[in-house]
Amino acid sequence: MNRPAFKRILLKLSGEALMGSGEFGIDTDTVARVAKEVQAAKEAGFELCLVIGGGNIFRGVAGAAGGMDRAQADYMGMLATVMNALAMQNALEQLGVHTRVQSAIEMDQVCEPVIRRRALRHLEKGRVVIFAAGVGSPYFTTDSGAALRAAEMKCDALLKGTSVDGVYDSDPKTNPDARRFDNVSYDRVLSDNLRVMDASAVALCRDNNIPIVVFSIREQGNLAKILGGEGTATIVGS
Ligand code: UDP
Repeated sequence: MNRPAFKRILLKLSGEALMGSGEFGIDTDTVARVAKEVQAAKEAGFELCLVIGGGNIFRGVAGAAGGMDRAQADYMGMLATVMNALAMQNALEQLGVHTRVQSAIEMDQVCEPVIRRRALRHLEKGRVVIFAAGVGSPYFTTDSGAALRAAEMKCDALLKGTSVDGVYDSDPKTNPDARRFDNVSYDRVLSDNLRVMDASAVALCRDNNIPIVVFSIREQGNLAKILGGEGTATIVGS
């Protein structure tokens, strides 16, 4: 597969990637395993930003479906992403990887606020920057947060770690004939409603020419492999 070389990347993981075999919450062994993936990428010389969702703890739409005010529920979802960010920071620091968490909702005692210039400096110093609380506003998702930070931080690519090895024309978990794309355009993803990321996140990447690399984070060693131009993935681009 012909892949461009990347130096600075943003890795987006859904909260479910931290859940392990459970149905809820944070599994410390799973967090440690994912942290090792990040460590390997770091040691291979990449600059890394991380965005982790909160769906393993709380999603605003679920709260709203249960009768909560949507915005209030979304703030709870954003707080869930901060918990995941702190869990990942802990796991990375235990491996000796230096990190900073920057949250779009300020909480001075816990982490830094999002300050773009400071985040750039962290990357230059070899730290992994974990962005929490999405864009800091309700009615958004961490996919949009990931696309926004990737643009702000001038990342060469947004890597979306999922439970499958790329983008398919239909759901490979239910359709055995589903076909995987090696490459697919932003416009096709949007027009065919292919499940990659939220439409607003895909559009933001398209408008800023940021390739989205969809790959499986479940496979051990896969992140470093994908960054090295090997392994199975789908690249969403122009
Ligand atoms: N959220 C939000 N604004 C943001 C990012 C997240 O309101 O900018 C809330 C929203 O309720 C969302 C929850 O945080 O459902 C968790 O984020 P997300 O659903 O993106 O997590 P993931 O599906 O990636 O685990």
